[in-house]
This record gives sequence, C-alpha cells and structure tokens, in this order.
Amino acid sequence: MHRVRRDRPASIWTEEELLDGKRVLALAVVLRTSGCSWWKRTGGCAMCGYNASSSYPEISEEDIVKQFEIAWQSFASHSIVKIYTSGSFLDDAEVPANARDSILSKAGEAGVRLLFESRPEFVDKGVISRSLELCGDIELAIGLESANDSVREESIRKGFSFGDYVRASETAISLGAGIRTYLLLKPPYLTEEESISDAVSSISEASEYSRVISINPVNVQKRTVVDRLYRKGAFRSPWLWSIIRVLKSADAGDAMLISSLVGAGSNRGPHNCGSCDRVAVQAIEAFNLTQDKAKLDVPFCECMDRWERNLSVEKFAISAGDHENYFSGIP
Ligand code: SF4
Ligand SMILES: [Zn+2]
Repeated sequence: MHRVRRDRPASIWTEEELLDGKRVLALAVVLRTSGCSWWKRTGGCAMCGYNASSSYPEISEEDIVKQFEIAWQSFASHSIVKIYTSGSFLDDAEVPANARDSILSKAGEAGVRLLFESRPEFVDKGVISRSLELCGDIELAIGLESANDSVREESIRKGFSFGDYVRASETAISLGAGIRTYLLLKPPYLTEEESISDAVSSISEASEYSRVISINPVNVQKRTVVDRLYRKGAFRSPWLWSIIRVLKSADAGDAMLISSLVGAGSNRGPHNCGSCDRVAVQAIEAFNLTQDKAKLDVPFCECMDRWERNLSVEKFAISAGDHENYFSGIP
C-alpha cells in the first residue's frame, strides 16, 4: 500500500500573480494536516474533497514544521507565499500555534506576503495581531463561496453566515491584514444561469471587504456531494463561458478579480466543447495577470450558442445532462 510521508508537503509549485499591479512569483504549498474541523464534525462542504486527499489524523506539530522547511527550500525570488491546508491555518486543532508561528516568522524574515486560509470562527484580534507581529504582510483567504446565506447554507453546507464573514474580515482589516475572498461558481442545485447571477452579486457584496476576489469554479472531487450528483448525471461543472461572463460583467470595485481554475478542460472541471477550451483558459489566465477585460474576448465557437441555449432551458430539465444531450442531438 502507498505510504504517505507525513513530514512531506502534499505539493509545492510556483505560479505568477499580480501584486500591486506587478507580475510576481508566488510559491504555493499544500501542507498535509489533521484536516478541517468543520469537515470532521459534519462531513464538510458539498464540493470539498481535500480532506480525503491531504489530511491525516496523526500529523503532529513537528510534521507540519518539517513540511514547511522542505517547501522553503524552493523559496527563491518569490514575493508571495501561499499556504494551503485542508481547512483553516488559524485553527489550533489543525495547525498548532507553534507550527503556525514558525511559518509566519520565516515569511516575516523574508519580507514576503503570506497568504493563508481560514474559516471565520478562528479569526479574532489575538490571532491576527500575533500573525502580523511575526509577518507584517498577511492576506487572509476566506471561502465565503456566496454572499447569499441560503445558497451557502442549503446548497454548500458551509456552516457560517455572511455576517460571520463580515465580522472576521473587519477584524483582520482593522489590524492591517488584507482579505482574499473565494466565491464558488456553480454550487450544486443551482442552474448555470442562477450560479452566474449569484457569483456576480456576491462579487459586489464582497468587494467592500476584499483585496482580491477569486472565482473558483467547481471541479468535481471524489467522495463529495457534488461527485454523487455528477455520477448520477445530475451535475455538470460550469462552462468556461460562464466564468468569462462573470469576470466581464462583475463590478469588483477596487478589489482584484481573478478566477482560479482546477481541472479546466476535463469533464470534472470547468469546460466548454473541447475545441475552444484551451483558448478560453488562456484568456482567463491572461485576465488574471492583467485585469484587462479585453483579454476575455475569445473568438466565437459554435458551442457558445449551445451554452446560451442551455442557460435558458436548464431550469426545465430533469437532470443536468438532459438539455446538453438534446442540443447535441443525442436522444
Ligand atoms: S471547503 Fe473548507 S470549510 Fe468546507 S470542508 Fe473543505 S476545507 Fe472545510
Ligand atoms: Zn467551443
């Protein structure tokens, strides 16, 4: 059987990002942890399979410190370091305070921006002040997913309210941290059209608190509610056209707007017809790095008409596959 090294990070990579209008390098690290407390208590959010892939109950404080030390060997001319766990970096039960301090100190000494994720219930004045003491430039990423409480609760099972997000954001901002807000494109049980409207209105509502807003289109991860729906033919990952429409039509105010694509072009990830996927992905990536909406003008593809028709008829379909098969001529 495949044995996991608990003192090795799950993955490390370098990517480009826009920081204060300049293209810089970001070092991204996925740490293995004991997992998200919300997931352990409830089975987690409808689309989240991270705990099944990168969390291990027996991971210790020392393991986390060692994982980060290994990741740090790849640190070079990066301006941002992004720490992804399978839950909340600020949750003591997941990342013990000493391990957290050691990561924050390394980033602080290097003078980089440190991005980490947390649910709002772990955000308070004490932990944010301590984090800023060790690293003067932090960005707190919160998975708000939708500004609509019904969507977040009934469709995603997120377990916190928009008010909780606002409280956590205001606390962090008042102390000098920045906020990155994650919004989910196409939560289960919403049609494609409903999910576009939900994302656009969520962007307006979150813009007041956010330095960056990241639209995260659902990719179907194993052992999740979304996966069960997908296997029954009752869920289709969002179209890349839908992401483009959201990015083009949203008003993010002063916040930087990006879309983070995972599994793009595959059936489980955001996709179009197959022939235009690559150019659509490149357009979104170019927009992420320039904030120039003109980059989103992708040449016409026949599937654009199919996508438009899907938007208007999906609400009448019995399952997510029905209308697509209909328009493809599949009986
Ligand atoms: S999405 Fe975040 S809060 Fe929800 S189960 Fe996954 S790690 Fe936990
Ligand atoms: Zn196409």
